[in-house]
Amino acid sequence: MDPGLEAAFRYVERFLFGDANRPGLTVYDVERLVGYPAKGEGPLSYTLPRAQALSGVQAVRLHYYPKDPHLQLIVEIEDREGRKHLRHFRWNGFTWEVPEGKRGDLRSTEESLGFLKVGEDYFLGFPQEEAKALEEAVRKGEALGAKYLLCPRCGARVFYAPSVRPAEVVCPRCGNPTLLFKTFSGLEPVKDPLEALAEEQRALRRAIEELLAYLKRKLGP
Ligand SMILES: [Zn+2]
Repeated sequence: MDPGLEAAFRYVERFLFGDANRPGLTVYDVERLVGYPAKGEGPLSYTLPRAQALSGVQAVRLHYYPKDPHLQLIVEIEDREGRKHLRHFRWNGFTWEVPEGKRGDLRSTEESLGFLKVGEDYFLGFPQEEAKALEEAVRKGEALGAKYLLCPRCGARVFYAPSVRPAEVVCPRCGNPTLLFKTFSGLEPVKDPLEALAEEQRALRRAIEELLAYLKRKLGP
């Protein structure tokens, strides 16, 4: 997980809900910060001043929607990569609550990036650009040391990011929960397990034929 993003979420949580030392933010505080109603009917925005706890993200912004009874506040945390993490709140007269069906959890761990299929392989926990770059490196045999899971049933490969717990991953192609842990060495060609089995059988048949030919020669007709 991104520690800068985590720190920003913790900061925002204290800012909104307060802690032992200071009260939380009220809807009146938000109105004062964004300049409502002096600056118009909204929606209105306010960027939090830079603080040590926010040094790991680009910005934290509050967006205030004074005319919407269901959703009044959107907190936007923009991380280092420019991804925006949005959380939704409404003021219930006492504190901030999360409108039904919206996201209000002030945690970044929930932000999981799903499977991306690039070429023949799957990539888990990577943003699109990184997945594409890694796929290219794998194709060229250059991604040495990259960790991946191999499905012994269907041959799918899942390259995963350091934030992913690989033991919990299920094959995205066939649903097999038992995947093999692998490290890319650039040597192994992609091999279909059925193809591998067929090759093994062909080799076995050749060995038997050779043995029979040998025995025939040895023992005579
Ligand atoms: Zn599979």
